[in-house]
Amino acid sequence: MKTDDSHSWFIIVKTILAKYNLPSALYLLDSQIQKLKWKTMVNKEVSKYWKHFIEGHCKLYPSLKYLNSQYIPGKTHVLVNLSASNSMQEAMRIPVKLRIATGSYILMADRTRHSKNKGLLATCPLCQTSDETLEHFFLLCPALSNQRKSILSNIQLIHEKLSIQFKHNGSEVDLIQVIIDSSTIGLLEPSCDNSILMDIEFQSRRLCFLLHTSRSRILNDIDRTSS
Ligand SMILES: [Zn+2]
Repeated sequence: MKTDDSHSWFIIVKTILAKYNLPSALYLLDSQIQKLKWKTMVNKEVSKYWKHFIEGHCKLYPSLKYLNSQYIPGKTHVLVNLSASNSMQEAMRIPVKLRIATGSYILMADRTRHSKNKGLLATCPLCQTSDETLEHFFLLCPALSNQRKSILSNIQLIHEKLSIQFKHNGSEVDLIQVIIDSSTIGLLEPSCDNSILMDIEFQSRRLCFLLHTSRSRILNDIDRTSS
């Protein structure tokens, strides 16, 4: 008799069936289930498992607070959706946006939170006027004001319209949230036009990429002059 930690194909199949809450191999052999019915059942249970797993785990990570963790099997997340524009330039902007949305784009405020160096300051290295938080990076840092001006005003315009539109159901639309992952608006207001969300996504990808490249360039200049 093989144990559950055996690498035999039968035990592996048994483990997979149990993992996805599917009928046991013995039951399947006896019942002779139809192929189409089996495929439908497998698709449904596998999708259900991963939806529950992904959405449940996302809630455990504070760094994912801006990310719309709703998993819809077969549907591409808006953050990686290129359907509106298939340009290479658009594709190049996605990784920066993903890093920001998943909390792995580290600003000084994050660095001090996770560093063991208690002397490390959260001050923005670009302007030295305030802590470098997401709000400072996106909306306030004077060193990036020229770069953000026109794109941010486009996003703010849409944000203001959405805020007025959503007032009736008491939903508040946070501007930082809109910039990082506009698809969360669709959760608050399912009737929201998808083209508006895709427009914000296009603008916010440009904004994130531009702020990121400008920040990196200024940091490189600072490094060069101080060395
Ligand atoms: Zn700054």
